[in-house]
Amino acid sequence: MERRKMSVIVPCYNEEEVLSEFMRELGAVCDRMTQYTFEWIFVDDGSSDGTLKILREAAARDGRVRYLSFSRNFGKESAIYAGFEHSNGDYTAVMDADLQDPPALLPEMAEALESGEYDCAATMRVDRKGEPPVRSFFASCFYKLMRIICPEVNLVDGARDYRLMNRKMVDSILALKEYDRFSKGIFGWVGFRIKWISFENVKRAAGETKWSFWKLFRYSIEGIVAFTTAPLTFAALTGLFFCAVAFFMIVVVIVRKLLFGDPVSGWASLVCIMLMLGGLVLFHLGIIGKYMANIYREVKRRPIYLIRETDEELNREKGAWMHAETDAGRDET
Ligand code: UDP
Ligand code: MG
Repeated sequence: MERRKMSVIVPCYNEEEVLSEFMRELGAVCDRMTQYTFEWIFVDDGSSDGTLKILREAAARDGRVRYLSFSRNFGKESAIYAGFEHSNGDYTAVMDADLQDPPALLPEMAEALESGEYDCAATMRVDRKGEPPVRSFFASCFYKLMRIICPEVNLVDGARDYRLMNRKMVDSILALKEYDRFSKGIFGWVGFRIKWISFENVKRAAGETKWSFWKLFRYSIEGIVAFTTAPLTFAALTGLFFCAVAFFMIVVVIVRKLLFGDPVSGWASLVCIMLMLGGLVLFHLGIIGKYMANIYREVKRRPIYLIRETDEELNREKGAWMHAETDAGRDET
């Protein structure tokens, strides 16, 4: 029987400290999965350390290793997308380079897909051990909010990007060509039958997380804007509510003046109301602006990533590149 092909996509951004250990561990797992042939697609997301050098050496040494290197840092989402575009396995996995996504789960995930019951095996952390409590609190608020305003995306708290998918699901994800790519949302939005596998949170093997609190905050806003227009409805509804309140107040003031001859007093309250309404208008303009900014980025149709260098094998197999690539980059390979 012909062996099935499995692609493993690994986004790497300044991961020189863990990369070798990661490859050793992934290699040990893959060696045991003899019913598959593997390609590991490392996507160097514009690292400024020795990540690319390690990848070049690994590609020369190990036939399973392939890599692409971006012209600058485009973000993990772009790296995952590039990996999908270049993978051609029957099954495709996405895995972090820092060993927070244990490669040891791969056989169990593959088994779920082989059963034919599932199109995707996804992983989730059962706890958020080792994470600052403030971060966990805001994360759980974000997931609760998303479940309410955007139920069709079905975001799961603790879900990681570590997944194994069949070809159908990968092609569906590639069909979503949007520029602002919120992977967690995209994975949920495409649907399919998912088997959830939970594991205990693992600390980074080495190196540092690339996510600051504010980066995460902005990322969650992007997630909301990318998948639901609920904030626009919210803006419209609050506007409507304040119109109704204003109308009611006008009637009250007129009736009070006519019946009791009571002049309106107190500019303090007036100033408060004006400030609040001014703030509200600006806030709502901001919401609309956010959507407009996304439309603006989308209509420019810029490429999601640019490639500077790839390994020879990737070059040969794919032939013509859709994305910019310099000859200088190829010479260096
Ligand atoms: N990553 C990337 N581009 C970036 C940031 C991160 O490709 O701009 C990669 C990183 O190398 C790692 C994965 O995405 O393999 C997850 O990053 P990190 O461990 O910093 O995130 P965390 O696990 O803390 O969520
Ligand atoms: Mg990590």
